[in-house]
Amino acid sequence: MTALPTCPTCDAVVPVPADVVANELISCPDCGSDLEVVSLNPLTLDLAPDVEEDWGE
Ligand SMILES: [Zn+2]
Repeated sequence: MTALPTCPTCDAVVPVPADVVANELISCPDCGSDLEVVSLNPLTLDLAPDVEEDWGE
C-alpha cells in the first residue's frame, strides 16, 4: 500500500493501519477530525458522522 489518504478537512496525509477495514474510524493527527474509511480501494476518508449528539431527548 503506497497511497495514503488525505484528510478532507485539512488535506494532511493520514496514516492508516495496514489492517484497516471499511467504516473504521480514524482521527486526523493534524486537525483531530474524526474520519471514517469510506473506501478501501482506493483508500478514501470522509468526515465521520457525529453519532454522539442529536439522539433522542
Ligand atoms: Zn485533518
